[in-house]
Amino acid sequence: MRIVDIRERTLAISRHADPALPSGGLTTSIIALVTDVIRDGRPIVGYGFASFGRFGQGGLIKERFAPRIFNVEPSALWTEDGANFDPFRVWDVMMAGEKPGGHGERCVAVGTLDMAVWDAAAKIAGLPLHRFLSSRLGTGATDEIRVPVYAGGGYRYPSDDIPHLREEIRRFLDLGYERVKIKIGIDPLSQDMARIEAVLALLPSADCLAVDAMNAFDLRRALEVGAALAPYRLWWFEDACDPLDFEALGALAAGYDPPIAAGEALFSLAEARLLNRYGGLRPARDILQFDPVHCYGLPEYLRIVEALEAAGWPRSAFWPHGGHLFSLQVAAALGLGGSEVNPLCFQPFGGLTDDASVAGGRVALPSDPGIGFEAKASAMAVFRGLLA
Ligand code: MG
Repeated sequence: MRIVDIRERTLAISRHADPALPSGGLTTSIIALVTDVIRDGRPIVGYGFASFGRFGQGGLIKERFAPRIFNVEPSALWTEDGANFDPFRVWDVMMAGEKPGGHGERCVAVGTLDMAVWDAAAKIAGLPLHRFLSSRLGTGATDEIRVPVYAGGGYRYPSDDIPHLREEIRRFLDLGYERVKIKIGIDPLSQDMARIEAVLALLPSADCLAVDAMNAFDLRRALEVGAALAPYRLWWFEDACDPLDFEALGALAAGYDPPIAAGEALFSLAEARLLNRYGGLRPARDILQFDPVHCYGLPEYLRIVEALEAAGWPRSAFWPHGGHLFSLQVAAALGLGGSEVNPLCFQPFGGLTDDASVAGGRVALPSDPGIGFEAKASAMAVFRGLLA
């Protein structure tokens, strides 16, 4: 049993449903990991991509991490019984020789490959990823699980921002989502408040809306915006300040009573521990958004969940960043609070399978083996292009 080929392509990905709108030149990496395991006459292929918001990782993947997978004996990548690839052993092989610290974006390159490894291993086991993962971790059957979800989006439009924003939120509601998240922090506070008011007018209550400042504020601005937002008691206030500005985050948390969300741009166990120790967050109330792809893939994400649980955080506090099928599968397998979904932006990789339906703020998991990309035609069309 071998991994016979790993193909990567870096491609543009848009923050808007209309990819013609400017999106900051954002890219992501997509991966096809081809095995020699044959099912229904075809080799099993694991697919992965670099989640959203951090650009493609082709250089690191092709020059550094993928070659290590080919440079070991095939059996070094297997489970004890040789029946499948062991994603934890593959991860150890990829990380051989890497020093602690200096995470940069190597963590994204490793996480992208890791996603494809999990997809392939779950397909070889013939199980959807959440069931494969929960059996691997001994966390029990999850056949009937329906994961809490919300619709992420609401990026600022280059023209007619508020009308476009309202239209986007209406589309989320039409798709069955009950909670949504929009961006703030680019414009003056008055414009952010106008966006919030416009969206709240479409929602049943303020705790159906989260806002994401995308790390825009310094301490003074974080406190100013926090004071303006607090009376609304929104679902949460996300990424107020620089990811490593624990002083500003702690000052915000000391005075802002409703939930705060953080952690999306921290990419390692060591950084997650720092956030817990110095960020001033409140485990009974606040939200942790580490991205299982961006933080070195699932093995490191599992270590983060374990460490913060030991520090008093409930699993319900974890709502992983990403807004795609992999985050959904991980949330289901680990019994996390829920998952972001990007139904309109970051296509074709954001969002759920083509037949998924959101009801009561929750969604069922795909039944296909693996992550479920095969049930999302637009994503598969692009993934299959890697094999042409
Ligand atoms: Mg965010």
